[in-house]
Amino acid sequence: MKNSKLGLNSRLIHAGEFENPLGSATVPIYQTSTFIFENADHGARCFSGEEDGYIYTRIGNPTIHALETLVADLEGGVSGIATSSGMAAVNTLYMALLSKGDHMVSSAAVYGPSRVVMEQHWSRFGVESTYVNTANIDEIKAAFRPNTKLLYVETPANPTMDITDLKACAELAHQHGALLVVDNTFCSPYLQRPLELGADAVFHSMTKFINGHADIVAGMIVARDKALGSKLRSMMVNLGCNMDPHQAYMVIRGVKTLGIRIERSQENAMNIARFLESHPRVAWVKYPGLESHPQHELAKQQMYGFGSMISFELKGGFEAGKVLMNNVGLAILAVSLGGVETLIQHPASMTHSKVSAEAKIKAGITDGLVRYSVGIEDAEDLIADLEQGLAKI
Ligand SMILES: *Cc1c(COP(=O)(O)O)cnc(C)c1O
Repeated sequence: MKNSKLGLNSRLIHAGEFENPLGSATVPIYQTSTFIFENADHGARCFSGEEDGYIYTRIGNPTIHALETLVADLEGGVSGIATSSGMAAVNTLYMALLSKGDHMVSSAAVYGPSRVVMEQHWSRFGVESTYVNTANIDEIKAAFRPNTKLLYVETPANPTMDITDLKACAELAHQHGALLVVDNTFCSPYLQRPLELGADAVFHSMTKFINGHADIVAGMIVARDKALGSKLRSMMVNLGCNMDPHQAYMVIRGVKTLGIRIERSQENAMNIARFLESHPRVAWVKYPGLESHPQHELAKQQMYGFGSMISFELKGGFEAGKVLMNNVGLAILAVSLGGVETLIQHPASMTHSKVSAEAKIKAGITDGLVRYSVGIEDAEDLIADLEQGLAKI
């Protein structure tokens, strides 16, 4: 049956392409660095691109290819490029799409290291960048310059949960001859498909929802068209930030349950968000599924569900944040997100501690802000855990 006719949950199981001469039920791990040519002519044809054969694992590998075709299919793109980590995907994109003298506009609340590497390292090579609240399209417009080549956004933003209008961003970028790249880590293709809304490329830290089991670090870029896909693949191959076949196998195994994991965790998240909203020690809760979220309507339009990331602000600031971190029992105190286990963290003292105070304020990262990644445990247990932790403040 043609994949495009199947629903997303069926494609999660069956969309990865792999040659299967022995009829194995799962994708085998081709744990090899190199591939044997039949003869000199075959080798020559593989190198010239006349034939699609495998040459060397940094360039391509059947296990990795199965994952690349799977995620590309889910996102509705043509070309998947697997990388060793999410940050490897970020740097592949920066290096392929930006040259000396070019400018990028991005979200102020973007994933911390994506900003740090741009401001501290890509700037050394003459790449310029401006960070604005991309939830406000006028701020993006004002930041565009004649040399702006890339609009790079993350939505919902990390950890403010602000939502950026992807359709409007695609139109704006294209009017200026720039590309739109979206970090879709917080949603996975199950909840948001930026290419459908006009983005040129989308990428993931598959460490999070796509793998979903907190046991692998991995990244993936999906390009909208072949030309951009080839450009990005060639950069990944030359940078040498390829995925490993075993890593690919683990993600293929993890992603099969993406649909049921997300359905379950976002149902939990809705219950927990409502509990937190009614709690006296909580100043506010940001969850796209709550009517109180300022962009609840936009979330309904551009997302296929509200996800399982919640941010909330404690009354009592930095100290209250630390007390809660030290008193939760079921939620694990750790960075990362999108796994089957619930994680809690405090951006001011953890993920965003290296971001300057001024940038933190601009990005909406307050001292009492808590980020909570809801897993698939029982909601009642998670709520009881939070309730006793909040009581200690
Ligand atoms: C984790 C993360 C990254 C970086 O991915 P790694 O796999 O840790 O390298 C990028 N963007 C977002 C939104 C993330 O959460």
